[in-house]
Amino acid sequence: MAMTRSAGLFERAKAVMPGGCSRNTILRKPYPIYAERGEGSYVYDVEGVRRIDFGNNVASLIHGHAHPAIVAAVGEQLRNGTAFTVGTETEIEYAELITSRNPSFERVRFVNSGTEAVMASLKAARAFTGRPKIAKVEGAYHGLYDYAETSQTAKPGNWGQPDRPSSVAVARGTPQNVLDDVVVIPFNDVERALAILDANRDQLACVLIDLLPHRIGVIPASQAFVRALRRWTEKNGALLIFDEVITFRSTFEGAQQWYDAQPDITALGKMIGGGFPVGGIAGRAHVMEVMNPLNGPAPFPLYGTFSANPVTMTAGRTAMKLYDRQAVERLNSLGDRARTLIGEAIKVADVPACVTGRGSMFRIHLSADAPEGYRQAYLSPEKAALLSRFVGHLFDGGLLIVETATGFLSTAMSEQEIDDMASVVLKALRKIKP
Ligand code: PLP
Repeated sequence: MAMTRSAGLFERAKAVMPGGCSRNTILRKPYPIYAERGEGSYVYDVEGVRRIDFGNNVASLIHGHAHPAIVAAVGEQLRNGTAFTVGTETEIEYAELITSRNPSFERVRFVNSGTEAVMASLKAARAFTGRPKIAKVEGAYHGLYDYAETSQTAKPGNWGQPDRPSSVAVARGTPQNVLDDVVVIPFNDVERALAILDANRDQLACVLIDLLPHRIGVIPASQAFVRALRRWTEKNGALLIFDEVITFRSTFEGAQQWYDAQPDITALGKMIGGGFPVGGIAGRAHVMEVMNPLNGPAPFPLYGTFSANPVTMTAGRTAMKLYDRQAVERLNSLGDRARTLIGEAIKVADVPACVTGRGSMFRIHLSADAPEGYRQAYLSPEKAALLSRFVGHLFDGGLLIVETATGFLSTAMSEQEIDDMASVVLKALRKIKP
């Protein structure tokens, strides 16, 4: 009987939007829930059901819902105007704050989404090097730009040999020349990756990598892999780009702080918008110069009607000021607690499962061993169906989580929410026990 309002809303939605939504994330079958409001760690749906939110708008709400300081700052900005054809001091202040967080962020530009941030990073690399190709990791998600999305849906039958992963189109009709310009490398496989890069040496503008890729099981890039990519790009005149759209939450400086290699460009997004649409490109000053229009036409012109709009800048600045070293440390220790308790739940339930992740992210796998790369993380239709049943039980038990059983913590959480999550996980594991 519950969910009837949501079911009705879904019928209305399907009549006006393909698939009944604007973002292809229907988190529950046969119909999705609709949010009424959010408060801290919780979301209330239109049926009045409360769930602990481990989705946090897919990792973007670092402080959970409706943080009072963000609400107050945004409210004030709304009264002063929401968008201008000229710049604002808020944009400059926020640029100062972001660039002060990491030595590799010498300059920054703001855009409106992670997709745009990755697109701008790749275009900047092409403009800087004058080369056409980009390299990316097999299966990794970087948003919707044609080049960046390539190979994200690779599967047995089209993914090619391990030493030569195919450049697989996601959207039908993707031009062949786009696919030809994307060089796909296997995750954490130094030898194979370097051989593939070598074969494209003179044509590569950049190597793009997410240090904790969620489509590859939320397992960290190895120190050796990142170091090898840094060395290779340096030696061969290509740029190294880190996609930290999600992982910037990992330390005060971002996940790159875990590595002894720094990127030329970092793509940012999600949490730096404080709950509003955002993207950012931060990088070395001499590289970022390709966007500078002051000395004649920029080699890479970057515009955007809503880029750096003052509402986002205000929300982002407030959110990032709150996310100081102490807040990061506290959140990561809650993340450790989450992974430990999930691990214990798995033992108690005695089902083949494991948990991966680092910092404030976790992913539950319904297999005894954690994947080592995209091909092990790939879910066959049977495995995907089992995971979907599991996530359905989590959902019914009072958790909102991303459909791959990936969770993102927020600073609004306390040990209580983590412990409650673990007991929902235990019950859900028992329900899928063979
Ligand atoms: N890069 C990564 C690693 C992401 O996870 C995402 C979104 O999930 C994006 C880029 C794209 O960001 P957006 O959805 O804001 O376009």
